Amino acid sequence: MANLSLKHIYKVYPNGVKAVNDFNMEIADKEFIVFVGPSGCGKSTTLRMIAGLEDITAGELSIGDLIVNDVEPKDRDIAMVFQNYALYPHMTVYDNIAFGLRLRKLPRDEAHPNGKFTKEEIHQRVLEAAEILGITEYLGRKPKEMSGGQRQRVSLGRAIVREPKVMLLDEPLSNLDAKLRTQMRAEISKLHKKLNTTFIYVTHDQIEAMTMGTRIVVMKNGFVQQIDTPKNLYNYPGNKFVAGFIGTPQMNFFEGTLTREGETVRIRFNGSEAEIVVPYSYFYKTRPSYLNGDKKVIIGLRAENFTIRTAPEKGRPVLPFKVSHKEELGNETLVYGDINMEGDGYVESSTRIIIKCTEDVELFAGDVAYAELDLSRIHLFDSETENSILPRIPEYNYVDCEVKKGVLHFLGREIALPPAIACEDGKGELFLPSDAIYAGGNIPVKVIGSEKIGEKELCETELGGRRLYAVDPGEGVEKGIGIDMKKIAIWRDGTEIVHPMPLTMRLSGKVTKRKVTKEVEGKNKKVIKFFLSIEGVEFPAPAVISEKLIGALTAKRVFETELVFECTPYGLAVSESGIPATVERMVDYGAEKFALCRVGEKEVYLKTEEDLSGNIFLAPDLGKIGIVQADMDIRLV
Ligand code: ADP
Repeated sequence: MANLSLKHIYKVYPNGVKAVNDFNMEIADKEFIVFVGPSGCGKSTTLRMIAGLEDITAGELSIGDLIVNDVEPKDRDIAMVFQNYALYPHMTVYDNIAFGLRLRKLPRDEAHPNGKFTKEEIHQRVLEAAEILGITEYLGRKPKEMSGGQRQRVSLGRAIVREPKVMLLDEPLSNLDAKLRTQMRAEISKLHKKLNTTFIYVTHDQIEAMTMGTRIVVMKNGFVQQIDTPKNLYNYPGNKFVAGFIGTPQMNFFEGTLTREGETVRIRFNGSEAEIVVPYSYFYKTRPSYLNGDKKVIIGLRAENFTIRTAPEKGRPVLPFKVSHKEELGNETLVYGDINMEGDGYVESSTRIIIKCTEDVELFAGDVAYAELDLSRIHLFDSETENSILPRIPEYNYVDCEVKKGVLHFLGREIALPPAIACEDGKGELFLPSDAIYAGGNIPVKVIGSEKIGEKELCETELGGRRLYAVDPGEGVEKGIGIDMKKIAIWRDGTEIVHPMPLTMRLSGKVTKRKVTKEVEGKNKKVIKFFLSIEGVEFPAPAVISEKLIGALTAKRVFETELVFECTPYGLAVSESGIPATVERMVDYGAEKFALCRVGEKEVYLKTEEDLSGNIFLAPDLGKIGIVQADMDIRLV
């Protein structure tokens, strides 16, 4: 039984293939995690790094409380089950299961004087595993006398007897036929409940993932796309890839545009006459630039979120379409058609529509019908990035505003702009980040509700008749909210005229090493010390950082490559010596003050209580610094 922690895990193969990029995940004890994605997306590589069968290029892997990057596979307390069973053909089932236990070294004690499991212990474990898996009667057989499903049970048995903390399964059911796969799926889920240990399971099959996982990691091209429960992946896909990967038939994707008309938004479907009008309140989380009517968006709707009507109903959101054909699946019917009356409905296109019906439908090829859609189930994606533009956790609240004589007016409230924000009078759009709203200020709001989403809390409030979303605002929102003014932006005529203060700054440099003389036990010894050379100034690297840099397989190259050092305005201090900087001006946000400094060509913000000017030296807090290897884009710290 164990939890796992994967922090900034990367895998670069010697041939330069970057198979896994910045994999981050905390896995709780007893979870059933599924890695899913198309072939080549990096699932097996990630699993094999957890098993210890592949080196980790960069990052930190912990099982339980122990960092195991350099721990041998056999000492990681894991067991792995492979697609091809990997059984010994000349051994009986019994011996195949017992084999690993016979080899296992134990601490010598009274019960195990030769440091091995006793025969009785092994016998007991083999029998128990066989019982759990229902293969007791086959223990005397050889693998070749068994079916695929039975062989896979043997290989599960071999994993179970190790009583591992973590079970790793790499496409264990791929070699089985469809019926047996369904059966074994259920058996593995049952096994997970019975063994009460953490399972990590790799598959390319979304149905396997959806039916087995407590949480699913969807991967593509070495990048994690989304980590969520099956239900959330289905209901709240974060991008078009996840939306299309989860669910059968695949979600319908149409191209279209969105035009805000006061309190409504018109959704036009490209290549078709279809359009629907939706209250603007559905789009509070959408960036206004998507609502101008000129930006192409992808409209996603699942086949089960339509109801077929034979006539358009006034005031209802319907898409007229021409029926092309049907697939009768017994319990349901898939109706295929096209919202382009000239389209053919057979070929996948941006106007083809598939509708799932559970009732009999009297429709025939060539008929025109009307698909009423469930507005609450609409998904919208950017046509280039493919990211959701209706995110579950909105990054910003977009609110009409006006600046008059240094006072910001929005939603019926007035806030004096701090000296740091200079803005000409006029109307605009306030981009108010959801994480810039905190509990405890003097702006009274009505709390509508609050929802825990992953690690975050999304609080929904109302101000001036519209929604305001706050992420992790803290306790006491009902007493009033405040706004962190350094995070806001104001847009006017498509241009950002008030910029948020940058909270991550990137300095460049390298890691260097040198032999230095150090007194050890009264003698002078030469030892190798690491330095972080930031903007040309060397700082001794703290031990934890040195360890990580040496631990990264890229260490050989780490001395040659350009590094990016990331720090925040709170992770920099004025010092006697350090990186030379010139204070350009003070930036006063009222509650907090910063000095804007120039370091070479770069602008750097520094949190400070006092007014600074002239030339100073900056010292970064090395305990809080981030280090990224620039050319490969690998986070080392
Ligand atoms: P998946 O399990 O999702 O099918 P893998 O983790 O096996 O994907 O592979 C991820 C990527 O890494 C692929 O592009 C694959 O070609 C590459 N790859 C896998 N193993 C090696 C290897 N030993 N050497 C070089 N490239 C590899």
